Amino acid sequence: MNILGLVVFAIIFGVALRKLGPEGELLINFFNSFNDATMVLVSWIMCKIMETNSVLLFTSLGKYILCCLLGHAIHGLLVLPLIYFFFTRKNPYRFLWGIVTPLATAFGTSSSSATLPLMMKSVEENNGVAKHISRFILPIGATVNMDGAALFQCVAAVFIAQLNQQPLDWVKIITILITATASSVGAAGIPMGGVLTLAIILEAISLPVKDISLILAIDWLVDRFCTIINVEGDAFGAGLLQSYVERSKLQSSEPQLIQVKSEVPLDPLPATPEEGNPLLKSRHGPAGGAAPGEKESVM
Ligand code: ASP
Repeated sequence: MNILGLVVFAIIFGVALRKLGPEGELLINFFNSFNDATMVLVSWIMCKIMETNSVLLFTSLGKYILCCLLGHAIHGLLVLPLIYFFFTRKNPYRFLWGIVTPLATAFGTSSSSATLPLMMKSVEENNGVAKHISRFILPIGATVNMDGAALFQCVAAVFIAQLNQQPLDWVKIITILITATASSVGAAGIPMGGVLTLAIILEAISLPVKDISLILAIDWLVDRFCTIINVEGDAFGAGLLQSYVERSKLQSSEPQLIQVKSEVPLDPLPATPEEGNPLLKSRHGPAGGAAPGEKESVM
């Protein structure tokens, strides 16, 4: 998968072949024929797919994509914000606005790991999450917390079961839920990391693993939304922990204040400097003291 290395090698190799002149032509022609033959093979395979249930396949693939996107939208725009609001009583959409740049990066890169540094910066600078919290929670989240992946894997498993006309009873549905949770934890935070672990779920409910190729063909799109949800869940996790830490700090400071209040006896107010001042004399003599509202005169 070292694409960049392959591209650089291909460019340098091409320049070297050109340098060889007529001798290099032989290999260039070989690669050209190889490329043409591959294109013919691909067109044959595509024709075969079109012939066999093509309409049904494309309709169900469209429904699969729609179902995944709808699920991701509900989870990302309703479920996660509601959980955040329930525990923190803060506006979750303001929190989301603070991490809009990493969310866009997640969409562009399809990788939680690649989004991690930007997510740390955004939650710290825009959402006030402490560094020690974000740097502890977010790397763990990018590795194990994949809500989006678990969601799409469930949909994919049901899609493949329906494509093979296999009914799903309750035992199989619960197996899908449990294995999807486990396999999403094992998925790597890289593009299409979740498709690979989908094989675990298909194996568990005895579905053909080869059908993953169908999911693979459209995963470039679904995976982008999946990654957004994966990183959003991590960020909300960091926000929740921050709010919990803030609240427990507040609570731990309150009892100390109460203790200070109850233990220290309240002294009477200290005498004003005028009371002990021999230069001041009351109008009503030393024993009386000035009546309220009456002023003392200086001798
Ligand atoms: N691309 C996803 C991520 O990086 C993993 C997946 O394929 O579900 O979070």
